[in-house]
Amino acid sequence: MPRLPRVKQELYTKGGIITERDPDFCIVRLRMPAGMISPAQMKGVGEIAERYGIDQVHLTTRQTMEFPHVDPSKLEGLLSELEANGTPLGAEREEIVNVTACLGSRNCKFGIIDSVGLAKKIDTEFFGKELPIKVRIAISACPNGCESERLNEIGITGIRRPIRDPGLCTGCGTCAHYCREKAIRVEDGIIVLAAEKCMECGFCIMPCPFHIIKGTDPQFRITVGGHRGRHPKIGRHLITVNTEEDVLRVVEKIIYWIHRQASTGSLLPEQLDELEFDTFKREIAALV
Ligand code: SF4
Ligand code: SF4
Ligand code: SF4
Repeated sequence: MPRLPRVKQELYTKGGIITERDPDFCIVRLRMPAGMISPAQMKGVGEIAERYGIDQVHLTTRQTMEFPHVDPSKLEGLLSELEANGTPLGAEREEIVNVTACLGSRNCKFGIIDSVGLAKKIDTEFFGKELPIKVRIAISACPNGCESERLNEIGITGIRRPIRDPGLCTGCGTCAHYCREKAIRVEDGIIVLAAEKCMECGFCIMPCPFHIIKGTDPQFRITVGGHRGRHPKIGRHLITVNTEEDVLRVVEKIIYWIHRQASTGSLLPEQLDELEFDTFKREIAALV
């Protein structure tokens, strides 16, 4: 005789509650923008897990945690304790799911933008918004792309272009040595930049012994239509913007565009041409 847990059925309709292989149990996924969690919250997660008989907590690819093998009759109490701990229920359906980010300029020496702060702002504005398809948003604070942001429906990369004063350059070649893309070469004592090879990582700026390479202000390169999983795709470049406010405006427009035009049942990369991506790109360029 199968067990019939007493559970409020509306709890099952929430994103973040996933039916387990054993359908008498479920998985509970948490919301953790940028994968950041304080020691106190982490302790709280551990204590809650123990109280609810969870012996293993799983760390997910989207920088959050999930509790496997949860008894659905205990969901109500579990969810309210998680909420009080500041680690509320996450998302996993056709909606905006946990926003991921690398540590960025707060901690990484290569970081160009504050990816963690931006992820939290995007989460506050858009997390859990229901859409025809699942939308993943990821942020890497430099073109090293540690967060594989271009393999997400919306990817954001921090970039910075080097600016040299050719009149002051000694042609020592130090910057060329540091450029991993071989985008700089010294010709007759003069630095030449191959713009098509430059990834705008800004790594050549700091090592110049004469401090004559300046960087542009940080910028945010936004891609759309990336995907991992069964059919990986790299997102297409949509626009590059100058401020976090511009990023939020563009993300809002992308979400509205998906909400209005995308259809359920196929992936965003497959739909981009049908959704008239190039027209959308021109519309976005006119807005920012
Ligand atoms: S993407 Fe860049 S800034 Fe982010 S962790 Fe990697 S190297 Fe650091
Ligand atoms: S910004 Fe990066 S890729 Fe471009 S020239 Fe400098 S080091 Fe090379
Ligand atoms: S490191 Fe500075 S001085 Fe040396 S080649 Fe590069 S820009 Fe010129």
